[in-house]
Amino acid sequence: MNETRAPATPGRGDPSSSPQIAENGGKPRGFDHVESWIFDLDNTLYPAGSPLWPQIDARITAFVAGLFGIDGMSARALQKYYYQRYGTTLRGLMIEHDLDPAIFLDFAHDIDRSTLAADEALANAIAALPGRRFILTSGSHGHAMKTTAHLKIDHLFEGVFDIAAGDFIPKPDERTYMRFLEHFSIEPKKAAMFEDIPRNLEVPHRLGITTVLVAPRTDANERDAWEGEGIAASYIDHRTDDLAGFLAQLRKSRKGER
Ligand SMILES: [Mg+2]
Repeated sequence: MNETRAPATPGRGDPSSSPQIAENGGKPRGFDHVESWIFDLDNTLYPAGSPLWPQIDARITAFVAGLFGIDGMSARALQKYYYQRYGTTLRGLMIEHDLDPAIFLDFAHDIDRSTLAADEALANAIAALPGRRFILTSGSHGHAMKTTAHLKIDHLFEGVFDIAAGDFIPKPDERTYMRFLEHFSIEPKKAAMFEDIPRNLEVPHRLGITTVLVAPRTDANERDAWEGEGIAASYIDHRTDDLAGFLAQLRKSRKGER
């Protein structure tokens, strides 16, 4: 974990000046009460350094280029504009160009997952979690199933809530979290959520969910600078660069209390 990577901005990310931290008495929320475990998929259940997201990213650029008949650089700029403004490129294309989401999702997720190996440590750690487990993703259900099958963790989840289930409204829109929680009858105050994009944890924290940022070790990845914004925010209870290790540690501390 690199605590010095994202210096706090006074008045925004600096915990000492955060009213939310003050209300909580400065204590991050714990896990003893947690009955539901919610995981983002991309760059969370597999490391951000894996060659998966770069492929999806490149497929989306190619899709945008083909759709508008523009070159790769122009398509890239348009893609990033939609992504930042609407939460996903797909949402931007749906709102501004009435695009059929199925065509986009099939194209974007047609990637090579063969380099993604089974993650035994992660499988064991997730299997040991007490309670229900879910995936909440801005990708498709098919992508989630194929990817978790490669990791050999697909049998460990009660449900996958994908972008279609959320009516194509991506995180961090509050409506998507509410729809997800209602769909599976999850009590947010008895839930924990793991996610690699800080701003996607703000609403969950406000709803009472214990939040964990799964942040990469270095900046050497494909992420956009804005995605790291909020990395020191008060709505992040915990952070780790090793999801399996973090979950295993939780298990140990629970055992230690008995
Ligand atoms: Mg993600």
